[in-house]
Amino acid sequence: FKHNFTAGPFQGTSTFSTGLFINNEFQDGEGQKTIDVFNPSTEKVIAQIAEASAADVDRAVQAAQKAFETSWGLTVPGNERGKLMMKLADLIERDIDEIAAIESLDNGKAFSVSKNFDVTQAAAVIRYYAGWADKVHGNVIEVNEQQLAYTRHEPIGVVGQIIPWNFPLYMFSWKVGPALATGNTIVLKPSEFTSLSALRVCALIVEAGFPPGVVNVVPGYGKIAGKAISTHMGIEKVAFTGSTVVGQEIMRDAASTNLKKVTLELGGKSPSIVFDDADIEQAVRWAAYGVFFNHGQTCCAGSRIFVQESIYDKFLEGFTKRVKSLQVGDPFHPETFQGPQVSQLQYDRVMGYIEHGKKEGATLHLGGERHGTEGYFIQPTIFTDVTADMKICREEIFGPVGVVKTFKDEHGRQIWIVIFAIFFISGADIIHQANDTFYGLAAAIFSSNISRALKTAHELKAGTVWINCVNQLHASVPFGGFKQSGFGRELGEYALDNYTNIKTVNVNL
Ligand code: NAD
Repeated sequence: FKHNFTAGPFQGTSTFSTGLFINNEFQDGEGQKTIDVFNPSTEKVIAQIAEASAADVDRAVQAAQKAFETSWGLTVPGNERGKLMMKLADLIERDIDEIAAIESLDNGKAFSVSKNFDVTQAAAVIRYYAGWADKVHGNVIEVNEQQLAYTRHEPIGVVGQIIPWNFPLYMFSWKVGPALATGNTIVLKPSEFTSLSALRVCALIVEAGFPPGVVNVVPGYGKIAGKAISTHMGIEKVAFTGSTVVGQEIMRDAASTNLKKVTLELGGKSPSIVFDDADIEQAVRWAAYGVFFNHGQTCCAGSRIFVQESIYDKFLEGFTKRVKSLQVGDPFHPETFQGPQVSQLQYDRVMGYIEHGKKEGATLHLGGERHGTEGYFIQPTIFTDVTADMKICREEIFGPVGVVKTFKDEHGRQIWIVIFAIFFISGADIIHQANDTFYGLAAAIFSSNISRALKTAHELKAGTVWINCVNQLHASVPFGGFKQSGFGRELGEYALDNYTNIKTVNVNL
């Protein structure tokens, strides 16, 4: 990769290898196959990355196995692992402008977001888990006078990690942080759309002094390199972030091969609930951020906005004004809030949903068109008059499209009418509407009544509930789904459990 950046705080040439990263070396893939990398702002090819085959993945697994047995795992004390991870976090921060520029070029997100969110948070997550590296302990259980047991939290071994394109380096950090802290070695596949930042950071892994084979990065396609990871007999655990449908396939692959452990962070269709006692201005700001942050390409996007009837008109007026003010355009322009969607595929998918929404009879309240003439830019889009059965209200769009609906109150006015033994329900309550989805990743509540907000939070079926805010992710706070949004928790102390086997030693005194 070689690119001359002329805009933003990083101005200069960025050069690094885009081969497979195995054993601390950049290598060609089998058959020297490559994948074109597109700049989504211009639709032009900017680089080629190596494409990993199943044989390449196998080579990476062998390197990781050797490293696990000889230079990582149980042979390196936690504080040594932690030191290397701290160093890696420092190096990422040292090169933050360049890495953020690469992320914006490759993914299309605004440079300010790449720098202040993605790369900053990626360093924070790695540093947070570096702190855990010497603090993962077992318990002593004194069963009775004769029996003493204790537990050890041992690393699993070689772990496979498969990540999406929406937060390329940030997702990389969610995966490698807890795995390295607990002593595992890694074979990671970034998304074929956005592998550049992970490859750039591989050079820093070498510079930090990690032994060869501890972290291996194999860019490639899901059906080939991804599948080679989920079916590999030498990989004992696979951690996946991506769509629900691929998550199901990975689980089937794991089940039908070596029963590797699986954690899944999947999609969402999250509700934002605005009660009549909310600070409307604050709710408008957060709700817009909830659905449009990262161009709507956020697993926890608050893409279903429910507003209590009495404040609906006022909210919609403020929300419309706010959304109209969001700047769409060049990711390197300092005022830009929203850049292009990541790929032609995603652009077509999102525009398809917009067309579907119109056909289904929803009102296109704002946006709905392509922005500009080149690049995968889509106007921030709002639908109203949406019913619960519409595709745009049920399916994850993963683009800048939100639906705004009304509700009466928490419990609703339910009138049951029996006509020929059929029940009709009129007036759905917000808890029912918000939970009426097969996803359960996140939800947001806006209210000035803390008791009302907490009671509602406890009734929502979602892994994370934000009150008077949205999209707040911290290294120390667990994140993950209910229902078909997946299982296992990432971030925080909980994520460490995903990467250890608990061994019980039972002693007959
Ligand atoms: P995707 O499921 O298409 O791909 C994700 C990754 O899986 C990519 O690296 C891809 O190459 C790989 N893959 C594809 N098919 C595979 C297969 N058969 N076997 C193994 N690997 C395979 O998802 P995407 O389009 O990259 O990302 C968008 C999705 O990710 C959305 O559904 C979004 O909600 C979800 N996501 C979830 C979270 C979370 O924390 N819950 C975070 C970010 C994104």
